[in-house]
This record gives sequence, C-alpha cells and structure tokens, in this order.
Amino acid sequence: MSPMFNHLKIGLKGYDPLQDSYHNGLHIHVELKPALEPKRCPYCQCSRLLSKGRYQRKVRHLDCFREPSTLVVHTRRFLCSACSRSFLPELPGIRPGRQSSELFRQSIYELHHQGVCARTIAHKQAIGEATVERIYQQFTCRKAAERIDLKCPQYLGIDEHTLHKGQRFCTTFCDLKNHRIFDVQPGRSEAELHDFLCKLKEKDRVRVVCIDLSSPYRRLIQMHFPNAQIVADRFHVVRILNYHFLQLARLLAPTLKSNRGYLAAMRKAPERLSSKQKQRLDELFETHPVLQPIYQQMHQLREIMNSKHQTKKQCRQRLKDLLQHIKNIAACQAQPMQTLARTLSNWLEPIACMWRFTRNNGITEGFHRKMKLIQRRAYGFKNFNNYRLRVIAQCG
Ligand SMILES: [Zn+2]
Repeated sequence: MSPMFNHLKIGLKGYDPLQDSYHNGLHIHVELKPALEPKRCPYCQCSRLLSKGRYQRKVRHLDCFREPSTLVVHTRRFLCSACSRSFLPELPGIRPGRQSSELFRQSIYELHHQGVCARTIAHKQAIGEATVERIYQQFTCRKAAERIDLKCPQYLGIDEHTLHKGQRFCTTFCDLKNHRIFDVQPGRSEAELHDFLCKLKEKDRVRVVCIDLSSPYRRLIQMHFPNAQIVADRFHVVRILNYHFLQLARLLAPTLKSNRGYLAAMRKAPERLSSKQKQRLDELFETHPVLQPIYQQMHQLREIMNSKHQTKKQCRQRLKDLLQHIKNIAACQAQPMQTLARTLSNWLEPIACMWRFTRNNGITEGFHRKMKLIQRRAYGFKNFNNYRLRVIAQCG
C-alpha cells in the first residue's frame, strides 16, 4: 500500500506505514518515525537511554470504509540509565492512558454535539454510553480551560439569569461583537463575582459594557474595567419605565389590576394599537380620565429612550428633554414616580451612551433562551460547573 494512502487514511502525521492486517476488524499498522523517538528522559533529562525492546500500542481509530479500525503503533519502550525509569515515547494524536485516538474521540464529540444521542452513538460504535459522555465531558472541559487564557472581549454584555426555576441567580458575560458567551458565573452580587473578575486577563481592552440598570454591576465595572463605557440596555430601561407608570396607573384605577387587556393596551405604542385596543383605551380613559396624561407621558419617554445612532448634538437635546420629563415625574408625589425619577437621574450617563451606541443586550437575552433549553434538556443541573461547561460548549 502506498504511504500516501496510509497517511490519508489515518489522518495523523509522524508515523510511517507498515502492512495492514485484518483480524477481528481492520488493523492499521504504523511505526513512529525515528526522528520523533525521545532523545532525553522525561523525568531527569538524561540523554543516556536504552531500548527495552519493541512495544505495540493499540487504540481505536476512525472508521475506514464504514469498518471500525484499530491503529497499531509499533514503537519501543525506553529505559533511562541514570534514573532507571522506563517510559514510552509521546505519540502524536494519542494521549497517554486513552484507548482511542484523539481523532476518534473528536468524531464522537462532534456527533454528540450535533445532537446525536449518546445511546445511538454508543450502539453504532460499539462503545459504552458512559464513554460517549466521558469523551464529551473531556472535550468541553478542554474548551472551558482554554477560556481562562482568553482575552476580555471589546464589547461586553452583562446580565443575570436564573437556574433552578428562579431559585439561583447566575451572571452571563457575553461577547457582543462575536456573538458568543464569554462565561457564566454563579451569583450576581459583588462578593460572588469579585474573584472571577480579578482573574480575567487584559481587562483594559474592554471598551463598552452593556448592563441593565443594576447598581452592583455598575460598581463592579467601574472597579474592574477602567476603560469601559457603561451603556444602559434599552430593553431594560423601557421595561422599568413601563413598570413604574403602570404601577401608578394601578394605584389610580384599582380595577386595572384584574384586567390584563387594559394593561396590554396601555403598554403598547399608540401607532401599534389594533382597532379593538384603541376602543378599549378610549373606554378606559372615559372612566378614568386621569390615566390619559400618564399614558401620553409614558410613551413620550419611551420614544426618547428608543432613539439610536444619535450625534453628540442630538444627544444633548435628548438629555434636555429627559431632564424635563424627570422634573415632571418627580413633581408627582406617588411612590412609583419618585422611584422612577430617582433611578433615571442615577443613570443619566449610561442612558446618554445608549443613544450614541447601538449595542444592546439583545444577544445576551437570546443566549438566555438557549440556556433555558440547555437546562430543560438536562432536566436541571445540580452542579454549576457542569452547567457552565455545557453553556460554553454550546454557546461559547
Ligand atoms: Zn531518567
């Protein structure tokens, strides 16, 4: 058989082909290239090595023409004359102690990653289901370990999500430029995230961080990312607006509480209302005239918040409008309005940045959806580390 064919067949460099044999399946015999044989003892670095005789290393390899194959590497066992320890040379593509080559393991990992279930793979390849799981675990662990050395992304989205039906909070770090999950960490408080953020590399690379209006996150960013501009997330800003205005509406018209149709109509922008909803709103404003100005102000504010790609000059104008609105809101003595005015004035700068930039946490929210599916598919995770590995494997 020509060496070219053998090289193509095994897909590994560093071996010379020998004659193949067929006995209980295909056996591909290869020899480690003499140039790759060890020159020094791995334990004491001594160069006086003796050969202990020939040695065959057999590992499961990729299927060849739909036939399972075994790779038989012919090599030698060595003995160090200084420390009298014996050892095997390092074999390219085969890790010590493994019963299959790295290419075979990678093919199993890829199949499982693409959604073929462990049972089907195990049945087809005549290996155990536990082996498939173990291989998957090893590859995801490797992927997650590479993450520690990763540089921080330039555009970072930080948001929280829940594990265990909302009993446990986690923080997502999302690379908004490359649309990837950078990492997930348990907890959302400063104390819980401090250690992780201290370990990150090249934190001064981060230019923009997008967050919801959460003060612990803001303090963490100011502490750890010195060059980052904090940008408020549009979706969360609008949600807070809606929430507080509707709280006020509920205070003024207690019957609203039980009528979700009215609430939905109030939440919707005037230009997007259906004719039925318009009718509903008119009815509502007739019985509670006080709600009409609230509705108007809420949507004026929402429109201000929705502007993007603004120039510096336009931003200044928007800020003026917003300050006027905050003044009006603060004049109202009701609790929800006081809270809203306080929140908005605390977050003026990130909101102004939000008008300048287009980055938002929409990508992060999309990944949260995917993470919920990962949780469901696994019927929940007891061990946070396993959950993190899955998320990095599938979203990272
Ligand atoms: Zn030695």
